Amino acid sequence: MPKPSDRISGIVPSGKDGWEIHFAAMNRKQAGENIIMLSVGDHDFDSPSETVEACIAALRAGHHHYTQLPGIPRLREAMAKISTQCTGVATTSNEIIATPGGQAALYAAVQAVLDPGQHAIVVAPYYATYPGTFRAAGADFTVVETRAEDGFQPRAEDILKAVRPSTRAILINTPNNPTGAVYSRQCLEDIAKICREQDLWLLSDEVYWTLGGGEHVSPRALPGMVERTLVINSMSKSHGMTGWRIGWLTAPADLVTLLISLNLVTTYGLPDFISRAAVEAFDNAYGVKEIAERYASRRNLFLDEVRGLNNVTVRGSEGGMYVMLDIRAIEPDCEKFAWALLEAEKVAVMPGVSFGDAAAGHLRVSLCQPEEILKEAAGRLRRFVGAYE
Ligand code: PLP
Repeated sequence: MPKPSDRISGIVPSGKDGWEIHFAAMNRKQAGENIIMLSVGDHDFDSPSETVEACIAALRAGHHHYTQLPGIPRLREAMAKISTQCTGVATTSNEIIATPGGQAALYAAVQAVLDPGQHAIVVAPYYATYPGTFRAAGADFTVVETRAEDGFQPRAEDILKAVRPSTRAILINTPNNPTGAVYSRQCLEDIAKICREQDLWLLSDEVYWTLGGGEHVSPRALPGMVERTLVINSMSKSHGMTGWRIGWLTAPADLVTLLISLNLVTTYGLPDFISRAAVEAFDNAYGVKEIAERYASRRNLFLDEVRGLNNVTVRGSEGGMYVMLDIRAIEPDCEKFAWALLEAEKVAVMPGVSFGDAAAGHLRVSLCQPEEILKEAAGRLRRFVGAYE
């Protein structure tokens, strides 16, 4: 074939991507081994049945056609209402653009604020698609590491040091994937101050906002931030709808107007029947409370099980769908440890180093399994740690 573009070839450079252990475990599970998969971030349960019924009803009612580019009006209204709750800032429909999932919202955000060659700062550890999303825009980025000892809360001075003349944006994610850290109000205020003083955009990935345990603090609510914050959001985690691909961006209305042209050349609007089911799911909060409670109780159970483990320290792990175990006192090479755990006890977790240097020496444990399985996994981990040499 003729040569593909450098841009497409550069989004995910070939080579190791850190997911080998997950795929090896999945293959072994499919071959019949009793492997406990704690390596991915997708719910182990189906979408709420009411949401499914709403979608079937919308299909039966003939909602099969093209829709408005930024989302059908009722969907944007529902998203604006949820954004008002999520960010604590009164939000209107013209500050909302619907996208097929949070990932597409992230893509749109990066396209909207960065030109090729411009620079962004990404706080690590981060969600695996972030670097590729910047590369797809031809943008440059610097990774600012956090420290396990700080519970993976970023330090403002580290972010400030990374600012260059070409820097246009900072990307943060709280509650965080992979660490489960929930950034403190003070930390967000410090970041907001940098954005104001350096005239930067803040891209705030808040897809786990309902799974944070306590009150969610969005940097959009901080002084002077409405005009420079883009909030990435999604129904995937909060409403149990990962496979439906429905998300949105909350941004200044003038930027949303520009973003509509991006939807024109990419998605051309969302599916009508999914949009209508989403409106019902938003209006009735289908699944939201139950899902939040389920993850909180899984997190508490798993942390209770592992807290007494010798030489294992819990870091971050305050919200989202993951907990982070610091195993450096047992084994600094978390990849080696994770492979050995899979071999000996058939538990698949992600080595922290797959998410950047800050999480080296850690294990990311996904809570996407029922409590009895998490309990069994913790038991296997205890046995493995006890025997580890
Ligand atoms: N942002 C973070 C931090 C995530 O963990 C994920 C998915 O795991 C996404 C965005 C993308 O979510 P969606 O399924 O809505 O595309």
